[in-house]
Amino acid sequence: MTLATPLLEVPRIGPVYQKRLKAMGITTIRDLLLHFPRSYQDLSNITPVNQAQEGNEYCFLGTLSELIEKRTFKKRMSIVESIIKDKTGSMRVVWFNQPYLKETLKPGEEVYLAGKVIRDKSGIHLSSPSFEKAQGVPIHTARLVPIYKETKGVSSKWLRSIIYMLLYSMGTLQESLPPSLLKDRNLPLFKDALFAIHFPNTKKDSELAKKRFSFEELFFISLFVLTQRKKLSEAKAPAIAFTPDIMKRFTSKLSFTLTDAQKKAAWHILKDIAKPRPMNRILQGDVGSGKTVVAAMASLAAVKAGYQVAFMAPTEILAQQHFKTVGESLAHFRMTIGLLTGKTDRFISPKLPNDSIEISRKKLLERVKEGTIDVLIGTHALIQDKVKFNNLALVIIDEQHRFGVRQRKKLQPKTKLIAHFLSMTATPIPRTLAMSVYGDLDPTIIDELPKGRKKVETKIVPPEERKKAYAFIAKEVRKGRQVFVICPRIEKVEEGEISELKTVKEEYEKLSKDIFPNLEIEILHGKMGAPQKEQIMRHLKRGKIDILVSTSVIEVGVDIQNATVMMIENADRFGLAQLHQFRGRVGRSRYQSYCLLFTESNVPKTKQRLKALLESENGFQLAERDLQLRGPGDFAGNKQWGLPDFAMENLANLPLVQEARDAAQELLEKDLMLKNYPQLKNRLQELQEKLHLE
Ligand code: ADP
Ligand code: MG
Repeated sequence: MTLATPLLEVPRIGPVYQKRLKAMGITTIRDLLLHFPRSYQDLSNITPVNQAQEGNEYCFLGTLSELIEKRTFKKRMSIVESIIKDKTGSMRVVWFNQPYLKETLKPGEEVYLAGKVIRDKSGIHLSSPSFEKAQGVPIHTARLVPIYKETKGVSSKWLRSIIYMLLYSMGTLQESLPPSLLKDRNLPLFKDALFAIHFPNTKKDSELAKKRFSFEELFFISLFVLTQRKKLSEAKAPAIAFTPDIMKRFTSKLSFTLTDAQKKAAWHILKDIAKPRPMNRILQGDVGSGKTVVAAMASLAAVKAGYQVAFMAPTEILAQQHFKTVGESLAHFRMTIGLLTGKTDRFISPKLPNDSIEISRKKLLERVKEGTIDVLIGTHALIQDKVKFNNLALVIIDEQHRFGVRQRKKLQPKTKLIAHFLSMTATPIPRTLAMSVYGDLDPTIIDELPKGRKKVETKIVPPEERKKAYAFIAKEVRKGRQVFVICPRIEKVEEGEISELKTVKEEYEKLSKDIFPNLEIEILHGKMGAPQKEQIMRHLKRGKIDILVSTSVIEVGVDIQNATVMMIENADRFGLAQLHQFRGRVGRSRYQSYCLLFTESNVPKTKQRLKALLESENGFQLAERDLQLRGPGDFAGNKQWGLPDFAMENLANLPLVQEARDAAQELLEKDLMLKNYPQLKNRLQELQEKLHLE
């Protein structure tokens, strides 16, 4: 047996368990051994029986008297009773519904019993304790007992037995880290660490073991991103000449002057794409900081140098919006812009810079392929196999942290030159993530908002103030302003489902019938068709809608300057970074704007979390806070990047992340190709298949 042996071949795990484990993502011995306890129950103290008191849990060591089975009168339930005796005294023991114990446990035999001492009408007794024979090493009692995540059909007790058996029968296990790395840090070897994490002698042992595994995961992530980075730095990319004149002409045509931060960011990017190696950069800037115009400048440079640009937005609404604003501004510079989304494809040519023409998908793709579309804007539809570019030099991805290696390959399957990549995000990346999972990206930060923006007033609204808030909204609408209402769900999953989560459909009904019967109210959510969504956005822009009830689709990028109220239902259900994004949808004009956080939660911790939004306008601070409070899952969305749970947790641990990254860097400096570390090289290759860091 090796770590890679499938559980199928392990004698004591039959097909039933094998299936259950598979459902938990556990298929090999390695998976099983790396399935770590969630916590430990401390049963390491053996209590003399005469010292036990009602209401507490204890572990006793003693002998049992004869076991007698009874049945309860009413329910016909089995009861097995006995008496445990040690040097100090004796106590009644009762087990419910475990008739087989009569055969398993023999009178006179020494056993550990662990459970709660409670009182019934016949006095105090030990109630349904777990038990273990005292000869041999205890694993279920009389120690720090590992408790695993509850899963149907796979109990902690079963896992303990199997894991213990495997650890004993496996012999030596190959060390996965260079021993010197461990020694320098006083971390245990692989096999010792496995023992210590499942069956620790002390809490400290388990913590050291956990640190070892965490360090290992973080180390491999760093090795992965750093080698990725190295590979890119050796690849070739089209050098896009830096032309200050054209940029000046572009900025002079804008209706505003760039902020210093925008100028710096643009300079950074334009200098970077002028080099003959692929840029891999992430542009971070708070909502409304004006990232789009910076992306437009980079696009302009690329097209003027004779290349094509792909510009990907996360939603159709945003793709439309970019097509209109970026498209129009670039078309003035004699460029042809295409829009490729789910349904309607369009293009703008320099002859009609303020308008667009519908075009068939086939025609559009042909033009992209022959190179007569200069900038192709679109949704994820851009990375289909049939989209082929003639000479793609720059890929821009809006509101997504990064692009995976696979997606990169899809966009340019054959060319020798690799395109430059620029991703943009309003969700700042906390330092630990920047150093680990995003470690292959160079950051550029826009840390300044355009002048004259007013601070959005943020309030937490408890249930009793809902009426007042509605009155306030009515007043804003009378002044001519517009309002967003965000709900966490579109509709109930099942008819009649009881949930405190507000849904778009129900809120829409309530608002349009009962609360604001005279106002124009519409809904918007991800399940609506593209033409419908477009129409809503058009009406919203033209001020035809007073209140838009929506899901988080409104989260990113939408730019409605006349909107002044952002009202969020079940605000406690969203992460801080996300709430901050919502808030950024308003406050885009000279009017004072408001963000109303509705919550029915009375949990102090939740309230405290929401208060962070009142106190800080700084997206970076909020993101760091989110990371500490909610863990990195919030940044990964529902994806887990292919990392085990414990590794995800550790992504928030700055000192450890730093340490792992330094160690990886040091090792690669000595041995870039990992010639002397075939083990590491293999593991890295495995990771490449498994990780999906996009
Ligand atoms: P984000 O960084 O959130 O993507 P956008 O690029 O959508 O922000 O810009 C938000 C709004 O601010 C747009 O209407 C844009 O035209 C405007 N804008 C961008 N830069 C400036 C600036 N320097 N001064 C004033 N308005 C600006
Ligand atoms: Mg944007």
